[in-house]
Amino acid sequence: MRYLLAPVSRPIACIGIDLAGLPHRETGVAILRDGRLDHLSSAGGDDEILASVVQAGADATVAINAPLTLPRGRCCLDDDCPCRHDPGTRSRALERELLRMKVPALATALIKVLARRGYHLAATLRATGCAPLEVYPFATLRLLDLPASGKRTQLGRRRIHNALQPLVPGLDHPAASEHQLDAVVCALTAHLWHVGHTRTVGEADEGLMVIPAPGALGALCPSPPAFAEALPRPRRVAEDRVPYDSGAGSGAGSGDSGEAVGGHIAT
Ligand SMILES: [Zn+2]
Repeated sequence: MRYLLAPVSRPIACIGIDLAGLPHRETGVAILRDGRLDHLSSAGGDDEILASVVQAGADATVAINAPLTLPRGRCCLDDDCPCRHDPGTRSRALERELLRMKVPALATALIKVLARRGYHLAATLRATGCAPLEVYPFATLRLLDLPASGKRTQLGRRRIHNALQPLVPGLDHPAASEHQLDAVVCALTAHLWHVGHTRTVGEADEGLMVIPAPGALGALCPSPPAFAEALPRPRRVAEDRVPYDSGAGSGAGSGDSGEAVGGHIAT
């Protein structure tokens, strides 16, 4: 009888989606299988994104970098709807919690174009039986103590790419776009979730975000010495700390919005 209980060996598939606010902008897509990068591409419209989810497989965990729920009490994100009240209906608890952790995040209502797309994409996925995870690559990188800034420049992307390489076998894409790199981090976060090294911020009846748990880096990377050499630490400290400290106390939606939303400034 024992043999009947042996687990079926099936690869863990995770697809990361760095969602753009608008279909004509680049959405990054990355698929990890058992933690190894299997696919890296870009998508445009929702049909292309959903095709990538199908490609990842029916069992795949979907992780999306975008708000997937509305702030409590809101029926929409329209400025002229009675559901809007100030203060208190711009952000979700998860965004306020991130700010308290010194991880800047824009309030949902301030990135409404992206949030509307994320909300509808999540609804479409849920209708197919898939429960997408909301993730935030910037938070994942910060909480894993990896370089998180400067991804608008080739040098910055290279630093993030090189720091991710020991954690994501198969990642050898030095020319990857910032959205593709963010998609890799989304998928990595989903993989961490699978292996039990994440926690959530936010409130269950409003919306949760999955972030790495303390110690997640050690679980991913059992050989810290080699990993430490891959990180250009001196520059990272100088670039990361100053701007975030200065913006951390000024409330949801302010601070380093450009980096915080990974280029998804909704306009
Ligand atoms: Zn409304």
